[in-house]
Amino acid sequence: MTSEQEREYKRLWYLRNKDRIATAKRLDYVQHRASHLARSAAWRAMHPDAKRQWHVAHKERAHAMNKEWRAAHTTELQRKMKEWFATHKEHRRAYNKANAHRLRTSRQTPEARARKAAWAKANVERVRTYKRGWKSRHKDAGRVYAATRRARQADAFIEVVDHAQVFADARGVCAICRRTIKAPEKWHVDHIFPLGKRGTHGYDNVQLAHDTCNLAKGSKIPKGQPTLWQVRPD
Ligand SMILES: [Zn+2]
Repeated sequence: MTSEQEREYKRLWYLRNKDRIATAKRLDYVQHRASHLARSAAWRAMHPDAKRQWHVAHKERAHAMNKEWRAAHTTELQRKMKEWFATHKEHRRAYNKANAHRLRTSRQTPEARARKAAWAKANVERVRTYKRGWKSRHKDAGRVYAATRRARQADAFIEVVDHAQVFADARGVCAICRRTIKAPEKWHVDHIFPLGKRGTHGYDNVQLAHDTCNLAKGSKIPKGQPTLWQVRPD
């Protein structure tokens, strides 16, 4: 037998026994999982760049595989993200702050807007269900939404500000008159630097205030505060 014939013979044998080989391999993997995993780990340690290189060389494929994996693990992913967000609030705030400009601009390119609009159009039901669920989970929804929208329009958005969180952080004390806000009194989450005067919409630029104190203040800029360009560099 020439080597050519031998190769062909092997190829045919493999094709005939493909399923059997796959089953045997799977069984072997299950039975010796630990050693397989250890060997993989050892190989990866020897080739630290291999994964990245593979991704670079197989971009499309990697993308598709990621997408498939995410689709198959939606609930798990959502749960993990929620957990991570809940335990990394500070990290998140710092990240949002450090990347405010980039986040703001990358989300507001015409392409990003068009993409978002197209997605919403293609997922009308989903958007509606989500909005309904969200509203029932957030009693502050109306004003948080309005504030977020105003901030986005003023190009001042850094992060969504949770009003209950602001109230809790301030221990219910009005930042303007320094009195504790009591039951029938109404309160606002006030922008220290008004949005119209280059203040941002994020935890660093909001304070708790009586509605009356807030309205009396109008959009005056507080004295002895840093200059505006320090508040929101562009
Ligand atoms: Zn007050």
